[in-house]
Amino acid sequence: MEQRFKSLSLFEFQGRFPDEHSCVKYLADMKWSTCYSCKKCGHGHSCKGKSPEDRQCTRCRYIESAKAGTLFQGCKFSVLKAFYIVYYVSTNKNGISSTELSRKLALRQKTCWLFKQKVMKAMKSSGNFPMDGKVAVDEMYVGGQDDQAIGRNEGRKKIVVVSIEKQGKGISRMYARVIKTASKENLQGFMKDHIKPEANVRTDRWAGYKGLEKEFPHIVREKSEKKGKNFTDLHRCIMMFKAWLRGVHHSVKHLQSYIDEYTYRFNRHQMKVGIFENLMTRMVKNAPCTYKMIIT
Ligand SMILES: [Zn+2]
Repeated sequence: MEQRFKSLSLFEFQGRFPDEHSCVKYLADMKWSTCYSCKKCGHGHSCKGKSPEDRQCTRCRYIESAKAGTLFQGCKFSVLKAFYIVYYVSTNKNGISSTELSRKLALRQKTCWLFKQKVMKAMKSSGNFPMDGKVAVDEMYVGGQDDQAIGRNEGRKKIVVVSIEKQGKGISRMYARVIKTASKENLQGFMKDHIKPEANVRTDRWAGYKGLEKEFPHIVREKSEKKGKNFTDLHRCIMMFKAWLRGVHHSVKHLQSYIDEYTYRFNRHQMKVGIFENLMTRMVKNAPCTYKMIIT
């Protein structure tokens, strides 16, 4: 249906989406690409609605917009500007702050922040591609007195469990999750969601990783050397993440969203098919979320 966007330049993006209608049409095409089914009565046939890309059920006359039922629902500004936000968030190597978005798009900073939170929701890992091969797991701490990754007055330290998958000399992917405590249950829950049972998992000797041989038969618990010398890749990964986090000035409350944003881009640094299109598909497939859902 659509051309694949390989590293989409701003120039190409603007050519593809010159105005509001081209964006709404893109949404409608993506949303109803397979079939139409009325949200109210389930009827399978529609005709044109009031606005160009709306669909109206031929049985109950219910009109549905292209934005409805997606993360674009409730968006108070133009879909064109919303597309720009998705574009910048997905294609900028380090992402983009709401302040910068506000400047670029002439929208209020809070408006940009809010919509970006929705984009970040779409960036959350599906858990469909668990790690395999050489995997390392450890915890990191974010916040607290000695960590500048988060403003000092923003509350207590947070524990985050991190895993990386190695491929050759590099790291192919990473996942991370904020956990309440480094208990066996929490660590195991994360690992089961993101790591294949047959993977060669390495952890340190922390008690929370004890007794996981049933789930991960090849698990090796190694004594952590001074300054984590035997977990260099993992710790470099954590340092890079923290350096990025320092620059985004976020609230500790939304730490998981920032982790999701960071890992989404990190795991797609070699992606050949368009990252913009991938994120856009997720935006359309994700159920809408309200302001209240984001701030609580
Ligand atoms: Zn209907």
